[in-house]
Amino acid sequence: MKIVVASGNKAKLREIAQIFQGYEIVSMQEAGFTDDIEENGSTFEENALIKARAVSRALGVNALADDSGICVEALGGAPGVHSARFCGRHGDDAANNALLLEKLKDVPQDRHRAYFESCVALCFADGREITASGRTYGRILEKAEGEGGFGYDPLFYSDELGMSFGLASAEEKNAVSHRGKALAALAEKLKGMKL
Ligand code: IMP
Repeated sequence: MKIVVASGNKAKLREIAQIFQGYEIVSMQEAGFTDDIEENGSTFEENALIKARAVSRALGVNALADDSGICVEALGGAPGVHSARFCGRHGDDAANNALLLEKLKDVPQDRHRAYFESCVALCFADGREITASGRTYGRILEKAEGEGGFGYDPLFYSDELGMSFGLASAEEKNAVSHRGKALAALAEKLKGMKL
């Protein structure tokens, strides 16, 4: 089955292709979709559906979107759905990370608990829609560790891996990540469907 991924984030696309094996994964740019999609939902699920629906309907294809972010306990769950534009500009990872460290600088380490959440939505060309979510828990470090992954990865110490996502290999991260768990749950739902 061919699936168009509704994301302009190359790192995310690479992870989705690594995790969701057995499907023909194509980027929305390759499929011919270049419009901006306004992500104005208030939950990860709403935003994932907005993105997948936009691409599925425009191209008449099966489209998959992930909406994800990091939720920090001491910040009341922020930046959450605003993770990509925490600093005010979309996708500026360095500025987002600097702002997160700044906001936590006077907060004791035991209140740095955080989790990543991902909701994935798959909208089929025939109009059917399925979603699934995943979380992974850990804490925000006082400084970046490692340069792997993307976004907040170097600042996130994973409880499951016992190291930062920035130090983990792609395989190690994908095995425990929010996106890995959401896509595994989606694959389970797909197994029960008539395609
Ligand atoms: P989205 O593309 O609107 O879903 O924004 C997701 C944002 O959340 C990214 O730009 C990152 O800042 C952050 N994020 C989501 N997943 C990850 C991850 O696996 N590692 C690091 N940052 C992530």
